[in-house]
Amino acid sequence: MVAIEIECRACHARRPLTTPSPTCPHCGGQWAEARYQWIEPADKEAVDSWTAVLARRGASLWRYRELLPIGHAENIITLGEGWTPLLRAHNLGQMLGHHHIYIKDERQGPTGSFKDRQAAIAVSAMKEAGVTEAVVASTGNVAIAYSAYCARAGIKLWAFVTSSVPADKMREVALYGSEVIKVAGTYDQAKQIAAEFAASKNLFLDQGIKVIATKEAMKTIAFETAEQLGSLLAGDDPTIPHGNRHPWRAPNWYLQAISGGMGPVGVMKGFTELYDMGLTGRIPQLACFQSSGCAPMAEAFRQGARQAEAVLNPLTDITTLATGIPGEAYEVLFDLLAAHGGVIEAIPDADTFHALHTVAKMDGISVEPATAVAFAGLFKLVRNGVIAPHETVVINCSGHTFPVEKHIIGDQYTRNMAPVNGQGAPAGAATSGREEGLLTALEEMDNRVQRVAIIEDNPDAARLIRRILQAQGDFFIDEANNGLDGLRLIQQVRPNLVILDLMMPGLDGFGIVEAMKTNPTLHEIPIIVVTAKELSPIERQRLDGKIKALLQKGSFLDSDLLSDIKQALPQT
Ligand SMILES: *Cc1c(COP(=O)(O)O)cnc(C)c1O
Ligand SMILES: [Zn+2]
Repeated sequence: MVAIEIECRACHARRPLTTPSPTCPHCGGQWAEARYQWIEPADKEAVDSWTAVLARRGASLWRYRELLPIGHAENIITLGEGWTPLLRAHNLGQMLGHHHIYIKDERQGPTGSFKDRQAAIAVSAMKEAGVTEAVVASTGNVAIAYSAYCARAGIKLWAFVTSSVPADKMREVALYGSEVIKVAGTYDQAKQIAAEFAASKNLFLDQGIKVIATKEAMKTIAFETAEQLGSLLAGDDPTIPHGNRHPWRAPNWYLQAISGGMGPVGVMKGFTELYDMGLTGRIPQLACFQSSGCAPMAEAFRQGARQAEAVLNPLTDITTLATGIPGEAYEVLFDLLAAHGGVIEAIPDADTFHALHTVAKMDGISVEPATAVAFAGLFKLVRNGVIAPHETVVINCSGHTFPVEKHIIGDQYTRNMAPVNGQGAPAGAATSGREEGLLTALEEMDNRVQRVAIIEDNPDAARLIRRILQAQGDFFIDEANNGLDGLRLIQQVRPNLVILDLMMPGLDGFGIVEAMKTNPTLHEIPIIVVTAKELSPIERQRLDGKIKALLQKGSFLDSDLLSDIKQALPQT
């Protein structure tokens, strides 16, 4: 066992780890951190033998147990948390022109968010401390995760949630047998009431970010990421933990949507420990995002202030992130940003909901709105050139959307149909009339009228454009992967719109534009050029007046292309 000490952030006094309470017996400080024997100073031999042991351990966050604050293995409460996939954002990367964007898929935790890590370690710590009844305040996901783990640990949980938490989430909390207390107020008020309740009943109160277990839980995201990136960059399978077969690698950036900020605080502690142990060569820059309707930290950061002003009336649909009073956590984040670089940005909800759709449609990942804030933040930082194309980015895909809330998808997402001749016709009795009716009905469901031809020799680029059009739903798509076939296709199908690459072997995009413009049957078909090429003034002139829009590959969003298409297409 590695010796663990607890260090007070205020007075730096150290004490052995005996209780889950963060309160310092010397100065009353409320923020403490765990310190491990091998790390300071780094004991290279101990680290080497640890990674050798890791090579033989399974895929869960408990593989790092020597560096977690649980003394005895029998206290571990587990539902298989941790070692979530690190997925390359293939299509998003293609769209943004950034090919090293990785998604740490925390949706795959046992209750669907990265709070499962926190719950696993915090509830194990409660068990170790003999807690049998506990109180927690939550914007939803903590209550769900803690409820599941407390059920397993035999701990009764009182979950204080704000009334804006979606009913489906509250029902899940109740399902696990927790007491659900709905507070008609802000999250910060719910925290206050929970604390008073715990004090009056003398119950254990979980203090979230201040608790040792929370930060230690979040740091396992850093450990896993560095191990998985090591495999990926070595061309190996990242789903298999390797321990010491590859060097561990830290990304250039860690991105997360934040509420109280415990994710980044813990994750940065993890990356710092790895660096101190000599396992990685850098500590990433940090980018945190808040919903602009409740962004006390982003606002303070913008002003360069080390103290955040409270937001007493959060105005956001994204309840998960509605911490209006960040307290000491902001100071800690501010210092981390000063030391390692990075930003805290505010993201308008409209951008978030757009990003939510984009990530689902482009890379098959459905997230809850809180998580989409981070993706919208990624788009913003890429746009503004804050993140460079060669940099490795890991984004915390913090939680799943289930169910998809109504304000995200609206009501108009189904195409309805009923059996044509009513129900109950015996099998095999279908008349030809019925089949025709069915065909007509199916035909009517397909309301595509516009034909778009994509002429593009790079298969990745073609797939990206096709995907953007398909997800929009209303286009017939024809494709050709070289200029000559492309021109033939255009002559054959007479599309309503051509999306064209410029650089292709044989007949290039310029040649196609010229051929179309000199052909009276084709010269009115609008053209959008999507190119990787920096155009010279002469090349610009060759296209001038002949095309509707010019988009630079790898630096447009799906919405840019769709709005250019909308403008280019003749109205139907
Ligand atoms: C809690 C939560 C966040 C915010 O995390 P913090 O690190 O606590 O600020 C983001 N996304 C989801 C899905 C969450 O549950
Ligand atoms: Zn102290």
